[in-house]
Amino acid sequence: MDRTASDLLKLNRRWAQGRSRTDPDFFPRLAAQQAPQFMWIGCSDSRVPANEIVGLDPGEMFVHRNVANVVHSGDLNLLSVLEFAVHELKVRDIIVCGHYGCGGVRRALEDQGDALVDHWLAPVVELRRREVKRLGEAGGGDARIDRLCELNVALQVERVAATPILRAAWDRGHKVRLHGWIYGLKDGLIRDLKVSRLAR
Ligand SMILES: [Zn+2]
Repeated sequence: MDRTASDLLKLNRRWAQGRSRTDPDFFPRLAAQQAPQFMWIGCSDSRVPANEIVGLDPGEMFVHRNVANVVHSGDLNLLSVLEFAVHELKVRDIIVCGHYGCGGVRRALEDQGDALVDHWLAPVVELRRREVKRLGEAGGGDARIDRLCELNVALQVERVAATPILRAAWDRGHKVRLHGWIYGLKDGLIRDLKVSRLAR
């Protein structure tokens, strides 16, 4: 359906009114404080809206999304979000959630571009080079892309775990847990890749 930006404002009014009707205290409560238990690091893909696919309300998850859910150790955006989530909000769980059929991962697999996004995807390209054997075993086409999507999540979990933010939190006894999940566009289901990292 073709929608305009002003349609979105109408939809927003309808949504806010509906929320207030079912829970009159909803907005005042959220305005007073946010206390999410979860932080989400996911892909910008419009088909993977973080809160919606796990059925969480506003206020329940602190979200960072970028192309192919990549964790760059020098990304001030991601690191600022992570630092606030861990040190201020004291989230209990951080979830890195990739998705099958990721366009960013597909591009890293093809390794042909020299656009800005290809610089962004460099860690995934490096991962692909390192994992030639495992990717070869996955088969061709989509299976190969999907395997790289999984390996990418595992890599990014390790990268979050290696940040000074997480190491300092764990040293202080804040038992924040890290998880690596992957979402299936075809069935709407999330699979746990069993690459969780718990406090040391
Ligand atoms: Zn994606």
